Amino acid sequence: MFDISNRLKALVEYPFAELNRKKREVMARGVKVIDLGIGDPDLPPLSSVIKTLEKSTGVTDVHKYPSEHPSPKGNDELRYAVAEWYEKRFAVKLDPENEVQILIGAKEGIGHLPLAFVNPGDGVLVPDPGYPVYRAGTILADGIPVTMPLREKNNFLPDLSSLETNSSILKKCKMMYINYPNNPTSAVADKDFFIKIVDFANSHKIIVCHDATYSEITFDGFKANSFLSVEGAKEVGIEFHSLSKSCNMTGWRIGFVVGNKDIIAGLRKVKTNLDSGAFNVVQLAAIEAIKTMPENLNRILPIYKQRRDILIEALTTAGFKIRSPKATFYLWVPVPSGMKSEFFCAKMLDESGVLVTPGTGFGPEGEGYFRISLTAATTQIEEASQRIKSLNL
Ligand SMILES: *Cc1c(COP(=O)(O)O)cnc(C)c1O
Repeated sequence: MFDISNRLKALVEYPFAELNRKKREVMARGVKVIDLGIGDPDLPPLSSVIKTLEKSTGVTDVHKYPSEHPSPKGNDELRYAVAEWYEKRFAVKLDPENEVQILIGAKEGIGHLPLAFVNPGDGVLVPDPGYPVYRAGTILADGIPVTMPLREKNNFLPDLSSLETNSSILKKCKMMYINYPNNPTSAVADKDFFIKIVDFANSHKIIVCHDATYSEITFDGFKANSFLSVEGAKEVGIEFHSLSKSCNMTGWRIGFVVGNKDIIAGLRKVKTNLDSGAFNVVQLAAIEAIKTMPENLNRILPIYKQRRDILIEALTTAGFKIRSPKATFYLWVPVPSGMKSEFFCAKMLDESGVLVTPGTGFGPEGEGYFRISLTAATTQIEEASQRIKSLNL
């Protein structure tokens, strides 16, 4: 009776819904499933952050609409803390008034942004495989997602020169999403790549949206760059961040976007009309989370590194060909040759009770790979490793 919109019909189901169905099936058979599917940190935030949240509920007026309603820029002190962190961490100066915007999680800003800049039929360059929200946000704004394949032979960076061979499509593109360190491939980008992106954006008048959600989840001495640290980046783009992964706060729904003030103003106008900002109490606790981020990273990074090494060892023993990633809490692993990703993941779940995500959940170009998340307890990772070693491939 109520026909859904064409926009909604064009969206694929969020990839984890199907996996969860399969998981319930296997569990019903009595198998203890180890879920290494979704990337959702198992450890809680630092206790000082939780205490700040608790204390803040008693502050006057926090239960009202967030400050400056109906212009949800975000809490002043939090925006200043973001700018201070950016300068210290990346040597990038930001104006906390016009170049910092608090979000109800990075996903919210990423999903809303096309509404501010995309007209029906405009193209948006999206990585494939990639975080599904780039594509979804584009479709919900009646834009057309234009795939940028991420291939191993290019170190999972988009091939800009091959994009440039199709100038008629490029002419219609208004925005591009890039994401390094990358989910799901765990690839990293260097400054040279960001310099090329700035040139590309200038040549084709494209807004760059860099999703830097995993900038702090790095190993082996590697430190991720900010896109905004290269010359001219602030003229063409913005950068998304989240406290979800760096501060173990996925459920709190808090993130931010920084960079070009006109792009931020566009997003802010969308948000003013659709939401009224994040809960004050969460914003106050986020100030503490940003200030204590180094402490949290000192706690969590060695744990992810240990889990990474355990799984890499097991996968290598089982015959998988995989290099140790320098960043993110994901392993992006080629499936055994001749198998399709979904077939392999169903087989893995059936035969070992280990749930991993098929690469195709992140786009057709993810075929041939599966993704393992390191966000389960280390004992679970150890158990999963034993099961993987005894897989019959
Ligand atoms: C987890 C994730 C996000 C979402 O972050 P939230 O702040 O929790 O909304 C954004 N981008 C990528 C690539 C992610 O993996």
